Amino acid sequence: MNDETLPEVIMPSCPNRQLLKGQKALVTGANSGIGREVAVYLAKEGADVVVNYVAGKRAANQAVAEIKATGQRGLAIQADVSNEAQVKAMFRQMCDALGTIDILVNNAGLQQDAPFDEMTLAQWNKVLGVNLTGQFLCAREAVREFKRRGVVPEVSCAAGKIISMSSVHEVIPWAGHVNYAASKGGVMLMTKSLAQEVAPYRIRVNSICPGAIRTPINTDAWETPEAYAELMKLIPYNRIGEPEDIARATAWMASDDADYVQGVSFFVDGGMTLYPGFAEGG
Ligand code: NAD
Repeated sequence: MNDETLPEVIMPSCPNRQLLKGQKALVTGANSGIGREVAVYLAKEGADVVVNYVAGKRAANQAVAEIKATGQRGLAIQADVSNEAQVKAMFRQMCDALGTIDILVNNAGLQQDAPFDEMTLAQWNKVLGVNLTGQFLCAREAVREFKRRGVVPEVSCAAGKIISMSSVHEVIPWAGHVNYAASKGGVMLMTKSLAQEVAPYRIRVNSICPGAIRTPINTDAWETPEAYAELMKLIPYNRIGEPEDIARATAWMASDDADYVQGVSFFVDGGMTLYPGFAEGG
């Protein structure tokens, strides 16, 4: 690649600007939990947003309605992120409708827990298929479009941004959830390796690593006072995370304010990764 073709970096300077004005974003698994909050938040920051869902059309349409209420364009597209043909069709539909993509938030994910010796191959494959292969398939389509289009300086310093929704379990081992932890460990090195590969094209790739966030994926961990008290033993900051905590971090990571941030795992976890067991003694 010829460095001389890269435009000068134009850093935004208006303090009241919307972080993502004029950008087009795709959020996978955006009809629930973190993805839904991220999708609406990106719209509040000025992006047009595609809400991907695999099931739950009604919730997806509600998210789109909230996006439209911000004044931005919103569109729900059904696709299973682990299905190559459906992912390709989703990107085609998005580019036809909105022209291009500037931000991919690879958020869709699930758990299928089991003791290791009882885990079925179907449970292993399902979790790896959605959490890791799904992120690969969507990131690949996004990179193709980012490379095709290149940097548009009026829109962003970068040719494109990918945010991988990882987890504290990309570094914290998790008994009983080996498939999930393995998928997030894979997301970590996919994110960093891809970031290294595409940085010369001014494509930024980073991950957000949530701690315990109040969503349907982990209801058991917070819905009773007893469960919540147990959970707090793991969180030095002494509160559960809310989807908006992740949405704010994601919007920043996707914005030009984070233009020199590349290949990082950004933990948003109230200190869960600070070995809270060592707070006293050790
Ligand atoms: P959630 O269950 O509310 O949302 C997950 C979304 O992914 C849903 O919309 C679901 O329909 C979608 N999805 C599942 N399979 C799909 C597929 N094949 N194709 C497209 N979409 C699919 O859970 P959440 O907590 O909002 O999780 C979002 C992401 O955050 C996941 O990647 C999860 O691993 C990660 N995460 C969550 C927490 C937490 O505490 N909630 C912590 C760390 C990481």
